Amino acid sequence: MRDEDLIGPGEVWLVGAGPGDPDLLTRKAEKLMRAATVIFYDALVGQGVLDLIPAHIRRVAVGKRSGRHSKAQDDINDLLVAAALAGERVVRLKGGDPSIFGRSAEEVDALADHGVSARICPGITAASAAAASATLSLSLRGFARRVQFVTAHAMAGTPLDLDWAALADAQSTLAFYMGRAAASEISAMLVAHGLSPTTPVLIASDVSLPTERLVHTRLDLLPLTAQALADGKPTLILIGQAIGARLHRPQSARIDAQDCPSA
Ligand code: SAH
Repeated sequence: MRDEDLIGPGEVWLVGAGPGDPDLLTRKAEKLMRAATVIFYDALVGQGVLDLIPAHIRRVAVGKRSGRHSKAQDDINDLLVAAALAGERVVRLKGGDPSIFGRSAEEVDALADHGVSARICPGITAASAAAASATLSLSLRGFARRVQFVTAHAMAGTPLDLDWAALADAQSTLAFYMGRAAASEISAMLVAHGLSPTTPVLIASDVSLPTERLVHTRLDLLPLTAQALADGKPTLILIGQAIGARLHRPQSARIDAQDCPSA
């Protein structure tokens, strides 16, 4: 099949762009990006990925980053619907995997309300990419039988509405998305619900990009360590015994909390 035939006029694909490194795109994502007539993309989509979009294809930034809203979700839905109804071949490019904290359901529903069926191309989610960069396994025999993807996004000033008792499971790996601002609350609540203060933590920002930073710390030191790191970069927090397990990995892949000035 030629790339152009992957998307018919009036069809929409939600495409996972992965964590940032263009080499972590799927081949299908790249083909879909070439087949589109218009691409709507998030702030999280890496520049290297955007550079793969051929020059003749119209690109529209619809990025939302917490605190820096550029377009509300309803406006994005309207743009996608309008483009599809106008007969465009539409790609909606999203950071990571569209199905993980990507608001994909709202977009699929809005399109369906107008008779447009959307399809999804998966991408590598931040938790998988962070584990790979740090040479870790999210699940680990004898340490982690469960992996929980958690959003720590809350309205400013509101406590997180999470089932802390379920999260504070010593046999689980927790991947907190959008968790940097809530680092103190995450640490305090997990310890209050029984997780050991020494539980290993990895704070990973700009994963897969040249500016990537991986900082190992522990649950009780998480607030201090998070505070010491530069703000404004997408940051993922991994917590659990599997995160501290030593796999065979090069020392250069690790930065410990003690390397971090004020932690
Ligand atoms: N759909 C995305 C997640 C969107 S929510 C995915 O599957 O990865 C946005 C959050 O994802 C960010 O606040 C951060 O917690 C995480 N994230 C996305 N890309 C990241 C990256 N390159 N490095 C670190 N965290 C990232």
